[in-house]
Amino acid sequence: MKVCSYCGSSRNIEDKHIRAKSKRGKTTTPACQACNRSKGNKTLMEWFRWLKKNEPYRWNRIKNYNKRKRTPIAEKVKKIMNKKSFKFLFY
Ligand SMILES: [Zn+2]
Repeated sequence: MKVCSYCGSSRNIEDKHIRAKSKRGKTTTPACQACNRSKGNKTLMEWFRWLKKNEPYRWNRIKNYNKRKRTPIAEKVKKIMNKKSFKFLFY
């Protein structure tokens, strides 16, 4: 069963380009429709910043889901979370 590589949901899974097509992304990763819609054309960094401000509930799910994972997405999530510029981002 496919699950969303961002939030772990198994509902409405689509294969999504990690980087938006418009930015020449080539790698695909399964993601749920809700994450896909929310991410849109944003890069991961842009999306997470946006989530923190606009969808803290989803951001928490993504954070918790990827904490113990070792997938390429999880590594990216952890890398972004550890960036100072991201950690100390207040709105
Ligand atoms: Zn998702």
